[in-house]
Amino acid sequence: MPHVITQSCCSDGSCVFACPVNCIHPSPDEPGFATAEMLYIDPAACVDCGACVSACPVGAIVPESQLEPRQLPFVELNASFYPKREGKLPPTSKLAPVIEAPHVDARAGGPLTVAIVGSGPAAMYAADELLTQRGVRVNVFERLPTPYGLVRAGVAPDHQSTKRVTKLFDKVTRVPGFTFYLNVEVGSDLTHDELLAHHHAVLYAVGAPNDRRLDIDGMGLPGTGTATEIVAWINGHPEYTNLPVDLGYERVVIVGNGNVAFDVGRILTADPDALARTDISDHALAALRDSKVTEVVIAARRGPADSAFTLPELIGLTSTCDVVLDAADHELVQRDLAKASDPLTRNKLEILSKLGDASVPAMRARIRLAYQLTPNRIVGEKRAEGVEFTVTGTDGVRQLSAGLVLTSIGYRGKPIRGLPFDEVAAVVPNDGGRVVEAPGAYVAGWIKRGPTGFIGTNKSCAAQTVHSLVADYNGGLLSDPAHKPAALDKLVRGRQPAMVDVAGWKAIDAAEIARGGDDRPRDKFTTTAEMLAAAAAAPPPPMIKRLLAGLRR
Ligand code: NAP
Repeated sequence: MPHVITQSCCSDGSCVFACPVNCIHPSPDEPGFATAEMLYIDPAACVDCGACVSACPVGAIVPESQLEPRQLPFVELNASFYPKREGKLPPTSKLAPVIEAPHVDARAGGPLTVAIVGSGPAAMYAADELLTQRGVRVNVFERLPTPYGLVRAGVAPDHQSTKRVTKLFDKVTRVPGFTFYLNVEVGSDLTHDELLAHHHAVLYAVGAPNDRRLDIDGMGLPGTGTATEIVAWINGHPEYTNLPVDLGYERVVIVGNGNVAFDVGRILTADPDALARTDISDHALAALRDSKVTEVVIAARRGPADSAFTLPELIGLTSTCDVVLDAADHELVQRDLAKASDPLTRNKLEILSKLGDASVPAMRARIRLAYQLTPNRIVGEKRAEGVEFTVTGTDGVRQLSAGLVLTSIGYRGKPIRGLPFDEVAAVVPNDGGRVVEAPGAYVAGWIKRGPTGFIGTNKSCAAQTVHSLVADYNGGLLSDPAHKPAALDKLVRGRQPAMVDVAGWKAIDAAEIARGGDDRPRDKFTTTAEMLAAAAAAPPPPMIKRLLAGLRR
């Protein structure tokens, strides 16, 4: 029985390197890796050793014999990535090429010291890569008291296995040389120049914190918002705790059909009792228990073949929710199926073609996928009552009534003070992660390449940046820090006395897990004050640790 990669694949490639027979593709050195929707195990070559299972940070790999019914479509999906062959392939000993860790040359002026701004996947993968080298020091700065960016505040609560990657990140925080400065905002508590004066390099992995905004009349009325704000509210991000979310209406319309729209559609139609076993925020769960929503329409401006969601997420959605299409959209699916040649698109269209019809009365809250709808304006005077669309490519106009209209048209990076910014692509212009016009500054993740890809895509992205950084350090292009390491700690604590360190984060983590009890993975704190109170309860480090820390300084 081969192993199978399932929906929650993070694509970080750890399984590729663990596999002794090189049967997982695309591997990070293959051209399709950057754009792959997930990785696939070749069932004919898999020797069923299970090495990939322990390597996968998100628990996405399952022996075929242990798949749950909802995961069965992934058997065919893994197999369909490979050409059809007869029988079992002989095992191969050819290992996938491992990306070499960058070798840091020893230097008289002290160890390589890097500030990383942000603590999401790109930041933590960069820290991991740097700390493969003995003696390197990495200081991670995060403006919230809790780390891990979108893994904590963006991954939907019903995708708990994806959040398991935080266990890997927790391991990175325990590597000697790693320091957390949480609840510290670079740009207000500390400037870029100050960071540079205390480090050889500053690596920004700050993501794309803004939404792309839809510029149509009526956006901004009560009852309008963005899917990314709702995701943050659902996930207990402290800045979104008081977001006004009114679920007292039967229909929600989401504009845009990417994976974020799917996340929101799933949560808004899910059984609250099932969500109660996740780490969803208490305020979102309470609102969902009172929700009147019976239909979420996910509206795309183009046709089915151009859907932005990925195939694994479509399989996940259709196996857990009622998803329907109306008759006209079924016709569009058939039209696209007749033309589609690319197997991935065909696969998506085949699944869409089997969806139920929207005219059949719903038995429970459901999702309707709708196509060829370009948003024109929000209908309503004092609050949103619906959306008016043009039928894309025609003069036809269509209105959908709704009490909540959310746009889900992508994230957008924001400028970093002191660094250049490309307003069109909303990224910091860079060459392999090196900010060309700002010596000593580097970028990784969405602020480097734009808001695309999965958690694991950031591993190879961060590795590329770290290779550029180390090459510059080895080449003598980075100035030694002007201050001793102890001066940084003093400066940060002076500017932000409520700074949270690794021990503080561990205390918050433990308190949230304890609050979750037996039924939930954790019950999140949703205000900064609660987080800081929990961090303050962290026990002081043992004497030996304090002595060692003093010596290191
Ligand atoms: P996305 O995948 O880029 O989708 C954006 C959607 O907005 C598309 O349907 C796009 O339509 C539409 N759109 C853009 N401008 C529009 C406009 N002016 N009017 C109407 N529609 C417009 O963005 P996302 O859903 O925010 O996802 C961001 C990234 O995170 C993606 O790489 C996604 O795969 C990833 N992600 C992954 C997961 C997961 O794996 N579970 C979960 C969440 C997010 P067009 O295609 O016509 O431009």
